[in-house]
Amino acid sequence: TMTASFPDTPGNTGPTAVERITARAAELGEGLMIHRALPTRQLRMVGAWCFLDHIGPVTFSAGQGMHVGAHPHTCLQTLTWMIEGEILHRDSLGSEHVIRPGQVNLMTAGHGIVHTEDSLPGTRRIHAAQLWIALPPRFADCAPAFDHYAELPLWTEQGCTLTLLAGQHAGYTAPTRLYSPLVGLDITSPQASTLTLPLHPAFEYGILPLEGSVGIDAERFGPDELAYLGLHRNGISLELSPGSRILLLGGEPMNETIVMWWNFVDFSRQAIVQSQQAWESNAPRFGPVAGGEGRRIASPPLPWASR
Ligand code: MN
Repeated sequence: TMTASFPDTPGNTGPTAVERITARAAELGEGLMIHRALPTRQLRMVGAWCFLDHIGPVTFSAGQGMHVGAHPHTCLQTLTWMIEGEILHRDSLGSEHVIRPGQVNLMTAGHGIVHTEDSLPGTRRIHAAQLWIALPPRFADCAPAFDHYAELPLWTEQGCTLTLLAGQHAGYTAPTRLYSPLVGLDITSPQASTLTLPLHPAFEYGILPLEGSVGIDAERFGPDELAYLGLHRNGISLELSPGSRILLLGGEPMNETIVMWWNFVDFSRQAIVQSQQAWESNAPRFGPVAGGEGRRIASPPLPWASR
């Protein structure tokens, strides 16, 4: 591994070598295989980003699609970034919204929400990223909400097109509703390019190539290889391959230890047990999804002894 090329700032340990984390295959909905880059055994979170699914690109045969039945969430936000295809979101607040390429859906689960996700009948190809953001403890129990962002800050520089999915970068601010300091950036490079970006030394960062590859500190990362940059960097130079697309995620490290199990985030196993039991007993905390056709995903059994 290479050492990073940015100088140490007095008072901290300086940037560490880039860590390579290979996403694992996982199943989403009915038989759709995806790549999951977070959480992994090596790395649980990047800032408050605690879950990163790369969906596709996948081409469906006629009559096939992405269909995820009703399932609950707590104490997190789901951020869906659509690259190709169209997905219909429905939730227990009564939201019903189609997300299209270039748009973000942000669902704030807080105390509890239930949703379904279905590709539209005419959608034969899906490419998307779905991320979870852990809510800090004081907001973890907030009222659920759904936000659709049809337009996000988008600009070109150094031969690349950048879309700001969340947070702030280069004088731009995304409208995305956030509860902790973080950033999410989609970067495409039609030609080979060198892109130099300023970074926040108090943020930790990860870069995930979705297509093509990126060179960082003389190492190359291909599709679904997460490059974890750690803290204490003032900037980064990226060597992007022609036709590449990468996600850059960053945020202040979360001090609290979260518990993640199935679709729940929380701060104790006991709270997860309560959410699981509420879901299995049809408690009002997790209401029905209108139009969801009653497709309700049963929770797996809890991995801990319940009393
Ligand atoms: Mn979900």
